[in-house]
Order: sequence, then structure tokens, then C-alpha cells
Amino acid sequence: MPLAETTIDTSALLPESLRDDFPILQQTVHGERPLVFLDSAASSQRPRQVIDAVTEVYERDYANVHRGIHVLSERASDAYELARGKVQKFLGAKYDHECIFTGGTTASINAVARSWGDANVAAGDEILLNPMEHHSNLVPWFQLAERTDATIKHIPLTDDGRLDLDRLDEVLSERTKILAVTQVSNTLGTVNPIAELAARAHDAGAVILIDAAQSAPHLAIDVQQLDVDFLALSGHKMCGPSGVGVLYGKQDLLDTMPPFMGGGSMIGNVALDGFTSAGLPAKFEAGTPPIAQAIGLGAAVDYLTEIGLDRIAAHEHALMEYAYARLSEIEGLKILGPAPEHRAGLVSFVLDQPHAHDIAQLVDRHGIAVRAGHHCTQPLHDLLGITASTRASFYLYNTPGEVDTLVDAISQIVSMFKPSGRKRRRKPDEA
Ligand code: PMP
Repeated sequence: MPLAETTIDTSALLPESLRDDFPILQQTVHGERPLVFLDSAASSQRPRQVIDAVTEVYERDYANVHRGIHVLSERASDAYELARGKVQKFLGAKYDHECIFTGGTTASINAVARSWGDANVAAGDEILLNPMEHHSNLVPWFQLAERTDATIKHIPLTDDGRLDLDRLDEVLSERTKILAVTQVSNTLGTVNPIAELAARAHDAGAVILIDAAQSAPHLAIDVQQLDVDFLALSGHKMCGPSGVGVLYGKQDLLDTMPPFMGGGSMIGNVALDGFTSAGLPAKFEAGTPPIAQAIGLGAAVDYLTEIGLDRIAAHEHALMEYAYARLSEIEGLKILGPAPEHRAGLVSFVLDQPHAHDIAQLVDRHGIAVRAGHHCTQPLHDLLGITASTRASFYLYNTPGEVDTLVDAISQIVSMFKPSGRKRRRKPDEA
């Protein structure tokens, strides 16, 4: 049971009835254990509304988009473009054609590194990253640096796992071409000050890309207010289908960028010896796009917007604060990252014993799904001197009771692994 002072701000919580929207959460696992899903940072679950939207496309409206003149193609094209408009509103973009459907955050970042990067980065230029980034926001830039002979720089982190902005000028200069930074760290939970970073990058003459994989599902975003140049997100982390994501880019940047993939749909004209590109957004959507997935993402955006991103953020923050406080009470448990006021709704931790993978396996027997490993942030784990951590991540459907289940399970595990001191003497008839 929680200590008396470890209470939760119930006024911030969403109604538990929201869980009824999520069919997958209604099951028990390992016998009669209710499923406690604390792995939404890896991939969230989908509400009935999104599942129905995708089913409806396949049952009634599905055809390839933008190519046919028949009724199904018109319906599918309209629904696909309607979804783009929903994403535009969700992100506060100026134009819907600034929102490109991609395969996900990884695809979006790679697209910028390939298309914008190859056209704008040269030997001696600098690409500014930091050690808390996901591999998806490191490797494409390493590859760009290899192709162009550019230099990678990193914003140092503070001891508590935030960007050390006092030292930003040591690494941000007129040589910096791009600052690529996550809005929320998928391991530390740190929320980075994007508006400030965008202003500082622009002052230095650089552009800024934000990795919104862990923020778009949880916080209200306005790309114009933040003044970011590029943003990448994944549908599957925000109640939408897998296989779809978004690349937002400012129109004037996207206009100057060459298409990063060639094929159908992205052309104006093709002759035997060459082609011209289509305008935005088609220029960056070569081939058959993720049609039903994009429409499903539109339904997810509707779902999240109806609840309200501010309410979702408050709910998750309350759960995270509660989890942070309760987990902190466990002997030998160390939480990674900053204090609750600087974080979003996830908590990663390590124990003296057992190893992160064993914790994940053991809590799974209690019906609890958490993630263990380096969470695609190997450089960060190296910096922290650990190989792996366990991560519990919260979403709009999680409850304080589920936090209690997690904490109780971990407490049990910790006591199982405690050195037992003096061994109990066997009774003579014991085997
Ligand atoms: N960036 C961050 C911060 C993430 O958490 C993830 C997913 N774990 C990604 C990028 C990559 O997203 P995806 O696998 O959907 O492309």
C-alpha cells in the first residue's frame, strides 16, 4: 500500500470509463491477471473509434488514392486528404500540404536528412544533436555527416538529464546547419524547451527539427507558435495505426527540397529521359501511400482532440508523479532523468538487482507490460554507465490502480532478490 504522503492529484485524472473505448485492455493475461499496459511509449493501443474508422475504409471506401475516377477512389482520396487536414489542425500548421504522410518518425527524419540534408549540408558544417536522442534522431544524421563530411556536435546534458542550455553557445554557432532534438525523451521523460531552442537555432542561422514521437501523443503542439522548421511523428504512438507518420515542414523549406523518393504520384511529367516533380505534398509521397492508416490517424487525431491534449497531459503527469513518488520508496531503485516538473508521463529506472530484462519478465507474470533494454538510446545508457533500464510509460487509459500494481510487483521482486542474511535452519524432516 502507498505511504500516506504518496497521494495522487485525482482532479487531474480522466474518467476511467475511457478504458471502455479500448477493446484490447479488457483482457486478462497469464490466467486471471488483468492486463496492465504500461508500454505506450513503444506503441500505444487504439480505441474502438480508430479501429472502426480503419475497418470502414476497408469495408466500404477502399481504393487507391488520387488515381482513379471511380467512386471508391474519390471516396478514399477525400478521406485521405481529410485526414491530412486534421493533422494540419492538430499541429497548428499553416497549410495542409506542409503535412506529408510517411511511414513514421524514423521515415520522416530520414527524409529530412536525405532531402534537405544532402542539399544543404557540406564539409565543415555542423549538425547539432544531444545524447538523449533516440537512434532514429542520431543515425540518419551520422549517415548525413558521413556523406558530406559534416561534423556532429552534442548539447551537453545536466546531471539530472536535461539539456544544459547554459552551455548551448559552446556547440551552437554559425557553422551549425541543423539542430535536431526530441521534444520528449523516450527514456528520461525530459520535456525539452522547444520554443527557446528554435529561437536560439534561428539566431545562429540554423534550422530546427523536432522529434515529436513522444510528444505529439501527449502534449498540445503548435508548430507555428514553436516556430519549428520540421517535425516528425508516428501514428502508432498516438492511438493511430502503425505504418503511418507525418513529416511537417515549413512550406518554403519543403518547396526547395528535392523529392527523396522517386516513383508514381510524385511527378509532374515523366519522359524517357527525365521527370519533373509534382507540387506539395505529392512531391514527397511517392508510390501508394498508407491509405487506411492515414485515415485511421485522422480518426486518432479526432479522438485525442475531443478529449483534449491538455487534459491528457495533466492525467499522465499526475500518474507519472504518483509513480515517481511510489517507485522512489523502493530500496535500491534509481529513477533516470529529472524531477517530475521537468518530465512527461514515463518513468525509467534501474535496480541494484535484478537486471532490467528480468524485471520486465517478472512483472509480466503479474500481467504488467513494461519495456526493458536501452530503448534505442544506447549512447544515453552508455553515458549513464548502464546497459539497460526498465521503462513504465503512461497514457490516457492508465489508472493509479495500475501504478499500484506495478509498484507492488516490483517491491515483491526486490524482496525476492534481497540477500536473506542468515540462512534458516532446516527442520529434520524437510527435504
Ligand atoms: N523518436 C523517439 C523519441 C521514439 O521514442 C521513437 C519510437 N520509440 C522513434 C523516434 C521512432 O519511431 P518509429 O519507430 O515509429 O519510427
